[in-house]
Amino acid sequence: MGSTEFIYFDIDDTLLDHMQAQKAALVSVHQSFPCLRDIELAQFQSVYKKINSGLWHRYSLGEIDRMYLEKHRFEDTFTALRIECAPLKDIVRFYMDDYRNHWRWIDGAHEALQELSKHYEMGFITNGFSETQKRKAADFDLYRFSDKIIISEDVGYLKPSPEIFHHAAETAGFTGDRILYVGDSYTSDVQGGKSAGWNVAWFTPAPIQENMNEADFVFKEFKELIGYLK
Ligand SMILES: [Mg+2]
Repeated sequence: MGSTEFIYFDIDDTLLDHMQAQKAALVSVHQSFPCLRDIELAQFQSVYKKINSGLWHRYSLGEIDRMYLEKHRFEDTFTALRIECAPLKDIVRFYMDDYRNHWRWIDGAHEALQELSKHYEMGFITNGFSETQKRKAADFDLYRFSDKIIISEDVGYLKPSPEIFHHAAETAGFTGDRILYVGDSYTSDVQGGKSAGWNVAWFTPAPIQENMNEADFVFKEFKELIGYLK
């Protein structure tokens, strides 16, 4: 793409497979804590996901903090399932440790970073906890590609807030029209990036048809993105 000089990438479910890691860590929690014995795995996962996403929404509005979110996504799940699991802090820590063991690259993402870093400056923008996301960046050597890793907890705003995109543009040293944002979330990445005046490439296996034209480019495999940018 002619005007692109800098590429920012989302991390979770764009470069690294967060959903698969979350799912696997919930399987480990389910197997490791006897209080969940009588609860079906699928039910546990679906209740947790619903409660976790509601808490993330409240966190994004500034209504609750990180500690509250980390504790209550389990506590509220257990309450909804009418079971008692204790001590809660052991489960919270077990989950975070196990989650980390399941991080993997999304197919083709690492190769895309290697190839595109020859031609573009790049960086990363992620909604998440500073400690966790920095650990991901270290484990997967993202610092080799850039030291510009913008984490919502550090900035104080989550995508799709324009503030985090403006902060990222300033950090990159480019105006939005020179930046391409690559991400998987329609609301956080496509809408967030476009409303900040950036170019957006939407990584999605199943685009929302009526909204396809909002992104400048839609792809489901990283080799398509490389082809588009060459
Ligand atoms: Mg994502």
